Amino acid sequence: MKRVLLTGGSGFIATHVLDQLIQRGYSVVTTVRSAAKANKIRAAYPTIGTDRLDFAIVEDIALEDAFDDAVTSSPPFDAVIHTASPFHFNVTNVQRDLLDPAIKGTTGVLQSIVKNAPTVKRVVITSSFASIVNPFKGSWPEHTYTEEDWNPVTLQQTSENIANGYRASKTFAERAAWEFMQQESPHFSLTTLCPPLVLGPVISHLGSLDNLNTSNQVIRDLVQGKHKDKVPDNATFTWVDVRDLALCHVLALEKPEAANQRFLVSAGFFCNGELVDIMRKEHDRLRDLLPAEGSPGGGYPEDGLYKVDNSKVVKILDVSWRKLPDTVTDTVNSLQQFVL
Ligand code: NDP
Repeated sequence: MKRVLLTGGSGFIATHVLDQLIQRGYSVVTTVRSAAKANKIRAAYPTIGTDRLDFAIVEDIALEDAFDDAVTSSPPFDAVIHTASPFHFNVTNVQRDLLDPAIKGTTGVLQSIVKNAPTVKRVVITSSFASIVNPFKGSWPEHTYTEEDWNPVTLQQTSENIANGYRASKTFAERAAWEFMQQESPHFSLTTLCPPLVLGPVISHLGSLDNLNTSNQVIRDLVQGKHKDKVPDNATFTWVDVRDLALCHVLALEKPEAANQRFLVSAGFFCNGELVDIMRKEHDRLRDLLPAEGSPGGGYPEDGLYKVDNSKVVKILDVSWRKLPDTVTDTVNSLQQFVL
């Protein structure tokens, strides 16, 4: 049985990674910010003992040596999956709220592994399409994004708007991870996963609809009737299902060919107009809450759109993708637990 440290276990994506790890027989310790969060996750796995699921409290990943204790375990860890990083726009100070936890959290966990976890062989980091996309090029129809692309955002541009701040947090953190690998030549290999917008069902111990993870908020807002007159326009046009992404995290641990690779993890394209069409078709009871048929907005850019090459992840991790209607339907159904 392999033992894995999963950071940020209370997060939307991490709850699915945890689920896959447990299903596939791993022994997992996951970091959370409080005992209360640990208790909620524990309650979701009543038949799994502490040998298979345990917790370490890391209140703030931006603090120095934050992971020093968490990476120390008996039996020791074989691998680490680092998902914890802020993904929200509730930000008053970009440096403190986004850049520091993303960058220091990433370099911090790598340093702690070097210091205290000599048995770790593989580290997988949840990076983002935000570290690949060039937001200054807009829809850039003549371009195909691949793992070779890097967001050129600068530190100075992070103060222009919060979206730049978030994208920079992911770009700088991933760059710092690869620089760490080059400079330190540590005893483990690294894999980074760069997903675009992640949609999919919310696992129930997450809390309430008010603190729903950022990437599902467009679906929540639509089903809560917040966009009756106009379909909101997309910020991102490419997506992946959270369950497929979670499986990629585990396969990245398992496949030798994934070592020291960066993966663009995208299932394809979508626009918010398509989300609404699927919801109208599959969830008749939501009809009055959704934008009326023929409402403006939510389409693809008229001048065309960049393409995304996902062939590397399909080939090396050997994954296939859920279809958008299934993802949207499962997401809407999962939100029902919170009483819409
Ligand atoms: P969530 O907000 O659901 O999860 C983020 C996790 O990070 C939470 O567990 C959160 O803990 C933890 N965290 C954030 N800041 C800190 C901190 N300072 N100290 C300790 N823990 C912290 O987001 P997602 O699950 O969507 O995102 C997970 C990862 O995936 C992030 O790295 C994100 O950038 C990346 N990603 C997400 C995409 C998406 O569309 N969802 C797309 C591309 C990448 P708590 O909840 O207790 O605050």
